Amino acid sequence: MPFSSLGLSSALLPAFLHAIADEGYLVPTAIQTAAIPAILQGRDVLCSAQTGSGKTAAFSLPMLHQLAEAPATAPRRVRALVLVPTRELAAQVGEALVSLAKYLPQRVKVAVVFGGVSINRQMMNLRSGADIVVATPGRLLDLIDHNALNLAAVSTLVLDEADRLLDLGFGEELGRILSLLPAQRQNLFFSATFPPVIQALAQSMLHNPLRVEVQASEQNALEITHRAVEVDASRRTQLLRHLVQTEKWERVLVFVATKHAAEIVADKLRKADIEAEPFHGELSQGKRTQVLQDFKIKAVQVMVATDVAARGIDIAQLPVVVNYDLPRSAVDYTHRIGRTGRAGESGVAVSFVSADTEAHFRLIEKRQRISVPREQVAGFEPLEIMVPNPADLLSNGGIKGKRPSKKDKLREAAAQEQSLPKK
Ligand code: AMP
Repeated sequence: MPFSSLGLSSALLPAFLHAIADEGYLVPTAIQTAAIPAILQGRDVLCSAQTGSGKTAAFSLPMLHQLAEAPATAPRRVRALVLVPTRELAAQVGEALVSLAKYLPQRVKVAVVFGGVSINRQMMNLRSGADIVVATPGRLLDLIDHNALNLAAVSTLVLDEADRLLDLGFGEELGRILSLLPAQRQNLFFSATFPPVIQALAQSMLHNPLRVEVQASEQNALEITHRAVEVDASRRTQLLRHLVQTEKWERVLVFVATKHAAEIVADKLRKADIEAEPFHGELSQGKRTQVLQDFKIKAVQVMVATDVAARGIDIAQLPVVVNYDLPRSAVDYTHRIGRTGRAGESGVAVSFVSADTEAHFRLIEKRQRISVPREQVAGFEPLEIMVPNPADLLSNGGIKGKRPSKKDKLREAAAQEQSLPKK
């Protein structure tokens, strides 16, 4: 189905098609085909979709359409609010909105606000009002407390990456923001995952929503190749360097578990003449923006990032994502690999698996309903033996066919007793 059949009015269609062509989109993604007509009709939507599905344009196009059709108010009042969990995502959504709005006959002003930078410029920018505000919750409330904006005229609310908003502890802020919004409004709810707390939030907010589900498997299966390379934990940096060089990876996003690891791994790669930069929450906002920009223009080849910092970043044509440290959960695996194989492009997700993490990776495979063949790279064959630890199997809810027998459990208990310090 072409973009022209989604219900965009003939008066605005040429402006949108022009902007869509500039972005290089040929046809709508699955989520766009499903959500755009419903949003244009004023319905609430509940989308299970992750970064990479084209969800930003799925809400941006109809939202801009509605704003461009409604008479402008003077002064401008905030009519649409997009809440996002991170600064990077705020900046990205803001950019997408501006790009898609650029040929509209009537200017739609987009203001992007997030913490970690001076509030004064954001307050100045809001003095002349804004039609759409894209915000992280904490800074939005600060601005409201400073009387820099109010939400009384909001007719559309977007919660983007709602699961992450709550994961990052924005529950309270979200509650306050919701209480400041008019009860009569359209709600567009996007989340990659639906744990019970998100289901409850969706249920309390949405009225007869259209449910759109883009299955993770549907989304990833065709586009992403999963690889698992067995390697001893202590040799991962060398292996990474080897793979970057031999497989000629031009741009790699590497996930590590801690800020410290991000610094160390990037440093070691730099010493091997690979342009690498860490990317984590302790860097200043200016530095993060700079690294991301350099990565986008390929001045940085390897970005070594923690989960929170990398959340939601959108880099076109990111062919390789490496799990140097495995994600803590299958859900985080989904979020991480969502960085590659975006909207029709193919990508590779490479996970480093060591003796210690084998059981954990098996659990991720099970939850993801994927089976990834293990590979070894010549010269990096693991020396540590991959023996599944019965305790891991138990704590992970067990893995079919490998449930420890009574004997295993007794052996495990005896081993634990032996390893206790003697009194
Ligand atoms: P999102 O899921 O919004 O983070 O979008 C993921 C990526 O897909 C972004 O780089 C978009 O520019 C791109 N994109 C969005 N819609 C389309 C489309 N219809 N065709 C191709 N790429 C798209």
